[in-house]
Amino acid sequence: MEKPQRLSAFHVMAKPTGPVCNLDCDYCFFLTKERLYPGSRFRMDDEVMREYVRQYIDAQNVPEAIVAWQGGEPTMMGIDFFRRSVEYARQCAGTGVEVSHTIQTNGTLLDNEWCEFLRENHFLVGLSMDGPREIHDRYRHDKRGGPTFDRVLRAARLMQERGVEFNILCTVNAANAPHPLDVYGFFRDELGVEWIQFIPIVERINADGTTLLQQGNTVTDRSVDPAQWGDFLIAIFDEWLRADVGRVHVNMFEAAFASWVGAPALACIFDESCGDALALEHNGDLYSCDHFVEPRNLLGNIMERPISELVASDEQRSFRAAKRDTLPSCCTDCEVLFACRGECPKNRFAKSPDGGSGLNYLCAGYKAFFEHIEGPMNAIAELYRIGRSPADIMDIIAEEEAHTLEAFDSAGRNDPCPCGSSKKFKHCHGAA
Ligand code: SF4
Ligand code: SF4
Ligand code: SF4
Repeated sequence: MEKPQRLSAFHVMAKPTGPVCNLDCDYCFFLTKERLYPGSRFRMDDEVMREYVRQYIDAQNVPEAIVAWQGGEPTMMGIDFFRRSVEYARQCAGTGVEVSHTIQTNGTLLDNEWCEFLRENHFLVGLSMDGPREIHDRYRHDKRGGPTFDRVLRAARLMQERGVEFNILCTVNAANAPHPLDVYGFFRDELGVEWIQFIPIVERINADGTTLLQQGNTVTDRSVDPAQWGDFLIAIFDEWLRADVGRVHVNMFEAAFASWVGAPALACIFDESCGDALALEHNGDLYSCDHFVEPRNLLGNIMERPISELVASDEQRSFRAAKRDTLPSCCTDCEVLFACRGECPKNRFAKSPDGGSGLNYLCAGYKAFFEHIEGPMNAIAELYRIGRSPADIMDIIAEEEAHTLEAFDSAGRNDPCPCGSSKKFKHCHGAA
């Protein structure tokens, strides 16, 4: 684990095909957004692409600008669109900003040519995958309802062969949440990836029965249960702590580490205010956040008003501050507030114990998780502070376990039990 750093003043995730995708995942919150643009072809033209790239690079006040693409499925634009965007970004970077590129994809359209292009241009690819075959195929279907696992696995193998840098984006839902170690083991051991992002699925049901807007206090049965979410993270954390610190990078654990060492939040959901992670639609419409592509969060269109102005607008300032200003009182009194920060406002629709509104739906899971990792995270943070590698925690734990086993081996029947129960060994672990 290295000192966490924020590289960019703000991020924009551009959606060149809008919400359009070649798949039809059951929990997809993008697909219904087609209704916001009736009659659209959902293809970003080069004029919008160039404005996005130029304005975004020009507006950065840090040395690196990350040009980010996602969807829907961005690869449906065809590879030439991205060749032009990379070339244009190269021209714009003359201003002294180093440009890098990312793309989030379901992987099903990747082939050798794509992989060559992604590798040559140092794209960081986010590949969406939910775990081993049965689990992945539970909700991730193609347009005919067929499975997609084989096509995604093929993309992962192709990227590995061709040296494309990629990480896994795994949504955590009702199907995979009960199987944390199967999911983690699959990514680590079978797929051999070192960067994994877990994203909880929380789909709010709107009054009309859709999940189009962030409205409603009930969730679909595909959504992860709060306790399940906590258990999922805890099980994987314990495995990671034993074997993978510094070797496998899990977004939730890296973000917690940043909180524990007092570094800037690594993810907007764990920041005090909302981050600047805006979403750009195919036609140049800029929204406050990818989770709030909704009419009330439309800031404007970058063909009419520059990105830098829209990001600095009163509307975006209010959006940012609302996360902090609407934090319920049970969060302000919470012992893990420094790490959780009430998580994402889109999930704040539950009742708090005092009957107030606006508590995060996933609260119970986050509380359990952050309380569970407190001891080990304190130890990892201390190692970091004294200049040792956080990975040393694994040796320390192994040593402690060896001592404990030795103490059990050598305990006499009338000795206190080494487990610390204050009972005699013969009445406790020695009873067997
Ligand atoms: S691959 Fe992504 S964008 Fe496409 S349907 Fe699935 S979740 Fe939605
Ligand atoms: S709404 Fe959620 S995802 Fe969007 S910026 Fe705020 S914390 Fe981040
Ligand atoms: S764990 Fe729950 S109470 Fe604590 S900050 Fe997070 S959402 Fe709020």
